[in-house]
Amino acid sequence: MKAVVLTTPSPLENDPLRIEEVEDPTPGTGEIVIKVGACGVCRSNLHMIEGDWVGAGVPAKTPIIPGHEVVGSVTAVGPSVSHLQVGDRVGVQPLWSTCGVCAYCMSGDEQLCQVKQITGETVDGGYAELMLANAAHAYVLPDSLPDVEAAPLFCPGITAYGAVAKARLSPAKSVAVFGVGGVGHVALQFARLTGARTIAVSRARQRLELSERLGASRVLDASRGDAGTVLRRGGGVDAALVFAPSNDAVRQAIEATKPGGIVVIGVNAEIGPFPFVDEKTIVGSLLGSRQMMREVLQIAGEGRVRVVAESYPLSQAAQALGRLKRGEVAGRLVLVP
Ligand SMILES: [Zn+2]
Ligand SMILES: [Zn+2]
Repeated sequence: MKAVVLTTPSPLENDPLRIEEVEDPTPGTGEIVIKVGACGVCRSNLHMIEGDWVGAGVPAKTPIIPGHEVVGSVTAVGPSVSHLQVGDRVGVQPLWSTCGVCAYCMSGDEQLCQVKQITGETVDGGYAELMLANAAHAYVLPDSLPDVEAAPLFCPGITAYGAVAKARLSPAKSVAVFGVGGVGHVALQFARLTGARTIAVSRARQRLELSERLGASRVLDASRGDAGTVLRRGGGVDAALVFAPSNDAVRQAIEATKPGGIVVIGVNAEIGPFPFVDEKTIVGSLLGSRQMMREVLQIAGEGRVRVVAESYPLSQAAQALGRLKRGEVAGRLVLVP
């Protein structure tokens, strides 16, 4: 099969990715092989490829095939797999496998399992024609979702859903979403479904326009002034979600949030000044459980959220990542082998 392979992490300008002919995967016990129909291009992929996370042990092996928001059809089924068959349309999220027996796995927080495998980071991912998957972490797709729209549900979709769940929204509440990219534009829609008042915060005009089209109650141009101060002056918000990879956005989100409110952070950041007297909660958010992933697919299958996606051929993975790096993407780029 053809695959996009990373051998030595390095900035994109050094051309670290190669398209190679590699051995087709064969499924072991509990595994399946997927013919990839689409694979989303994630900022996490960019971090790994450029070597930002080498110190944290990512990638865990080289060479590695990146990509962790993958959909396609099952072409082979290994021993002990009874719930999936050849021809089924399925998807795989970053959580490639979990141990199933630790305290996190047993309590519904399996994304925190400390011996999990991560698609495209510790095992080969979906920038390829075929991918090996763990059948217990593969999800059957609703027929109503085409591959290109379904793939981003498996990272931005579940990330957005998990973050919105932590914000404890309701119709009486308000939420500001800082950063309306791949994850933020889906979070905005999940937040809207709770009935909360939604405020989209971005520096990019095309992203603010996208937010308006997706039904944001208000859009705030962060390039025109400090969004934290503007929102605080207006009485503040009950919750803030941060997906913009910027310490300044985190600081603004904390400032914008009312006393007693919740700040959910989906990026690595330095937390700035944090006055205890306001009793705010800061919480990190990573993906979500398998049950949450099924809920995401059901909601998207009913057409209640949609991913704005643009497709690229697999051979242009580097170009797609370049656009993401330069901040030129509203919504999600998806590779189609
Ligand atoms: Zn991702
Ligand atoms: Zn576990």
